[in-house]
Amino acid sequence: MHIKQILAAVVLSLVTSPHLPRPQTAARETAPAAAAAVKNRAPLSPNAFALLPLTAIKPRGWLRQQLEIQAQGLTGHLDEFWPDVGPTSAWLGGTGEAWERGPYYLDGLLPLAYLLEDQKLIAKAKRWVDWTLDHQRPDGAIGPQPPAGASEKDAERYEDWWPKMVMLKVLTQYHEATGDPRVIPVMSRYFAHRLQLAERRKLRDWGRQRWADELLSVLWLYNRGGDARLLDLARALHAQGRDWKAHFANFPFTEKVNAKIWAAEAGGGLSDLALGAHGVNNGMAVKTSAVWSQVSKDESDRRAIHHMLGTLDKYHGLPNGMFSCDEHYAGTNPSQGVELCTVVEAMFSLEQAIPVLGDPALADRLERMAYNAQPATLSGDMWSHQYDQQPNQVLCNLEKRNWTSNGPESNLFGLEPNFGCCTANLHQGWPKFVSSLWMATADDGLAAVAYAPCEVRTVVKGGVPVSLTEETDYPFRDEVRLTVNPERAAQFALQLRIPAWAEAAAITVNGQAIGGVKAGTFHPIDRRWQKGDRVVLRLPMSLRATHWHNNSVAVERGPLVYSLKIGEEWRRVEGKMKKPAIPPAADWEVHPTTPWNYGLAIDLQRPSAQVVEKAVGSRPFSALGAPVEIKVKGRRLPQWTLVDNSAGPPPASPVMSGEPEETLTLIPYGSAKLRVTAFPILQAK
Ligand SMILES: [Zn+2]
Repeated sequence: MHIKQILAAVVLSLVTSPHLPRPQTAARETAPAAAAAVKNRAPLSPNAFALLPLTAIKPRGWLRQQLEIQAQGLTGHLDEFWPDVGPTSAWLGGTGEAWERGPYYLDGLLPLAYLLEDQKLIAKAKRWVDWTLDHQRPDGAIGPQPPAGASEKDAERYEDWWPKMVMLKVLTQYHEATGDPRVIPVMSRYFAHRLQLAERRKLRDWGRQRWADELLSVLWLYNRGGDARLLDLARALHAQGRDWKAHFANFPFTEKVNAKIWAAEAGGGLSDLALGAHGVNNGMAVKTSAVWSQVSKDESDRRAIHHMLGTLDKYHGLPNGMFSCDEHYAGTNPSQGVELCTVVEAMFSLEQAIPVLGDPALADRLERMAYNAQPATLSGDMWSHQYDQQPNQVLCNLEKRNWTSNGPESNLFGLEPNFGCCTANLHQGWPKFVSSLWMATADDGLAAVAYAPCEVRTVVKGGVPVSLTEETDYPFRDEVRLTVNPERAAQFALQLRIPAWAEAAAITVNGQAIGGVKAGTFHPIDRRWQKGDRVVLRLPMSLRATHWHNNSVAVERGPLVYSLKIGEEWRRVEGKMKKPAIPPAADWEVHPTTPWNYGLAIDLQRPSAQVVEKAVGSRPFSALGAPVEIKVKGRRLPQWTLVDNSAGPPPASPVMSGEPEETLTLIPYGSAKLRVTAFPILQAK
């Protein structure tokens, strides 16, 4: 700790009331108009970037259309027919679901509603927020109360800290969007109550793994009020939560997890060992050390995320940017699955770690997940989803598969295949990605973290309001056009992320080329910006061949991974699901109508192929609407067949084939609902 920070800490503890809540200043209670980002207060470490408030970034172009698909799909309608988030929810005062599902749903519905300024969805979301804000108990507790006569075990579930962690994230987003003056006092009283009970009701089970999600809201509130007791709570969370840095420093799960490890869970208890190998917990844990480093200021906490991602890649990495978890660690075979909750949670983790660390490699990773793994596991209309997606997914049907612990419904597209957590939690993926496209920099400029069409309205250096529009069809095209509109001429820096794959990237400002642009950096352009200044960024996307399980190869281009386009026959499943879909939702098997077992003929050093660009239409993340096709050569491999209803592991490359050469069509991974992504490579003749 620097002397200045120690002094700041001492001063703060002197001026801060020892009792929560403390009154909020009027300035904090007004609705934010073109709000600036809120930065870390001492003694927290200063961050590279700060997240902009929700609604500072609005989607445009294909991204807005994607959010509209979501609003017209499950997210906009789930509460109308799925009882778990329906009007009987205990989070609305009813006798229904009282744990994580209501808060999960809101964590995505609320930002979607405000990003689209969709009054119907805002009204839906607000009902839940109002109930929580209006029903805080005298002791400060929030959320459903156990009904009179509840068993001790049931009552215990109501007192679980975990689902409240999710609702707190909802409240912080709601406050950013509206400035509602009820939020900060409710959160202050809740955390006072939380701190008082910290020793008596310690973190356990899910909450013990997921403590960083509570820490986010604790630090969010600290940065707005400066109450030093919140940092005591932060330290209590750290002391009681799982030490994920230690988990990865001495990583015991170097193979697909054995059934014995999760048997304790199946037996009714939650074993801490199994919870450490659990996919969603790991997706959420990606942020833990980085978020905690703001309090600890320990350099090893700042570095831990790279070791964690590197370890997961090495033992469980898949070409979609994720690690296998179906629903525990499952090794590198591309027929293993990835749970949808893990995808959206890992994205959120990166969105929280990037502002702390300012590392462009983490943003490359975020795009890889957001543009590949995320859309792949949802139908093009966002009315159905899978529990587990597979990089080599050649048949989705109701049969047993070689998952670590999931059931036979897991790769069906439906309302609630296998288990309903993903049904409740899938909604946060796109809206939170939108909110992370741009961030404020430490010197009051703006950083382009991920690329997609959008408009930013915020305040930069010197308090100058600025709007910035980003026009692009990225990730399907390679050009990004920015128009900068400060209210008056203003000096500040734009930092443009140059992805590690973009070796020939080029930038022009008002037509003048900028020198020294390097891949794998944030490239700063610090100048006096005038209204209407134009920046054009070109990120040429050459083909890359990357190596996976059994020396198989995936074809990549820019941020997108490409997969074999397989004919899809969607067959409605009726009467066979554990919990059948409730109309208007439906459950689907997807059967292949064309062959899938090909080896590729491709030059690994200098892959080249014909790239066909098509219009970015109304359903870019569907096989029929894929905006890019890549034509490659390949041959069938008769020896590569189904094993346990999934594509067998890719035969070890290089492979021989006596079959005729064919032209194959690859489409974006996220568009292909049946696909082969990790291909064997044919022996060069
Ligand atoms: Zn899930």
